[in-house]
Amino acid sequence: AADITALTRWVALFRDRIAAEQERLTALDSAIGDADHGANMARGTMAAAANVAETRPKTVAEFGKAVGMALVSSIGGASGPLYGTFFLRLGTAGDGLDELDGPALARALRAGLDGVVSRGRAEPGDKTMIDALAPAVAAFEAGADDIAAAAAAAARAAREGSDATEALVARRGRASYLGERSAGHLDPGSVSSALLFEALADALA
Ligand code: ADP
Ligand code: MG
Ligand code: MG
Repeated sequence: AADITALTRWVALFRDRIAAEQERLTALDSAIGDADHGANMARGTMAAAANVAETRPKTVAEFGKAVGMALVSSIGGASGPLYGTFFLRLGTAGDGLDELDGPALARALRAGLDGVVSRGRAEPGDKTMIDALAPAVAAFEAGADDIAAAAAAAARAAREGSDATEALVARRGRASYLGERSAGHLDPGSVSSALLFEALADALA
């Protein structure tokens, strides 16, 4: 099961992967956005990991709040409230629990995804982080009885979903201002979402 120690490891590994890919995320956002996604995510994940280390959450709900609030308050761009909502909803779904077994984590991830969809109103194919998050959550649900294998499958699905955004025309977020010219570039938020699920797979391996 994913206990608070494992969830804490997830956030630290997410921060580390973002730091390693920060320049690439910025380059992607400079092609179809405003060149701040790398800095936004680096700042946000550093604040989130630090807040978890400082507040030492005891429950999944406290964990989700510590991560989500830090992301919302430290990221200025669209990705802050979206990733923040993901973790806040994930925490609420695990309310009262101090660990999540595979099926409970599947429900929490689904709740997080639903939160991002209701907040951002993007659908699959709109060239956003949803194109990585949605297939990842579905892959996790399909194998939830083996939590480590499910997380690995989710990470692969997230990366494939992100790779497929290259061909898409953006219909949400800043990149949508470019219309057809947004095609031919990966969506930066989908790439950071692939890193989120790769970090989860590492944390649960
Ligand atoms: P900003 O666009 O405000 O500068 P970021 O650069 O940090 O914020 O994040 C941009 C990413 O946010 C996009 O690549 C996309 O994946 C995601 N995004 C933007 N708008 C939406 C939305 N409405 N729904 C889901 N994801 C979105
Ligand atoms: Mg941006
Ligand atoms: Mg911005």
